[in-house]
Amino acid sequence: MITRRGFIKSSALAAGLFPFLRKFNSDKTNTGNVTKPLVLSTWIFGIPANKEAWRVLEAGGRALDAVEAGVQIPEGDPNVSSVGYGGLPDRDGHVTLDSCIMDDGFNCGSVAFLEGIMHPICVARMVMEKTPHIMLVGEGAKQFALQNGFREENLLTPQAEKKWKEWMKNSGYVPYGKDNHDTIGMIAIDKSGNLSGACTTSGLKYKYHGRVGDSPIIGAALYVNNDVGAATATGVGEEVIRICGAHTIVELMSNGYTPLDACKAAVERIIKIKKENIKDIQVGFLALNKHGEYGAYAVQNDFEYAVYSETENNILKKSNSYFQ
Ligand code: ASP
Repeated sequence: MITRRGFIKSSALAAGLFPFLRKFNSDKTNTGNVTKPLVLSTWIFGIPANKEAWRVLEAGGRALDAVEAGVQIPEGDPNVSSVGYGGLPDRDGHVTLDSCIMDDGFNCGSVAFLEGIMHPICVARMVMEKTPHIMLVGEGAKQFALQNGFREENLLTPQAEKKWKEWMKNSGYVPYGKDNHDTIGMIAIDKSGNLSGACTTSGLKYKYHGRVGDSPIIGAALYVNNDVGAATATGVGEEVIRICGAHTIVELMSNGYTPLDACKAAVERIIKIKKENIKDIQVGFLALNKHGEYGAYAVQNDFEYAVYSETENNILKKSNSYFQ
């Protein structure tokens, strides 16, 4: 019996030996029915974020501009306690932000451990467009932002400060890492059929000062290959980094996996590594392919994502998951 994996392996081998077969295979998967534009994002705050992104997509704008505009909504919302302004601080009381962005031409930009700037996603884009680098961190990222017209602001809201102080009373200073897994990852395809993605977070609450998660790491929480698809992640960043989550998913899609199967396979890698400890971990992946097909898969059953297209008017969907 030929398993799907075996089939993929043998077709890949055949494609290597006979290049014309590769073309035949990829033509075969292209049905010509591409759902576009389309935007997807993680968690319930993906709804207002998608709405903003949709404005850009509907007007014929680039997916890159759409995702940058979209994720700024939770970044600026003081009531979202896991992204940008209003994010819960690290265990020393600092709100430190991680963001990245990637376009349809493998261009990418990222900032990590950035303090005092409300919209790290815009700084990440500026790193992508105005520097020869991909990633700036900490003080250097802040300096770069200030030199480029961003304003320094206090991002620790009274609400977040209160929660942190309460945590300090009983925490024993041990960072809490299981919950508060609520990064926004957004991926989109525009009317021209081009893909882009953005990801932004304040990271795990009460983390060690200086801790950086998966969210600003290209290939971990975000990856885009315009010929194949895009993927993003949320959850315990350490686990996503360990398997290069988003890149793994895009590679699996390039080998013929559907977005759902690719997300599932990535989660299964984490499950295999963590064994029985998996019950305390949440990781969720969301992926989109070049044809506008999408899927999501998570470890725990509380992962939801928002979808906006011509036919699915900004609805919230429950992801498939390992634990039901
Ligand atoms: N992935 C983020 C991090 O580890 C957390 C999250 O998604 O909430 O920093």
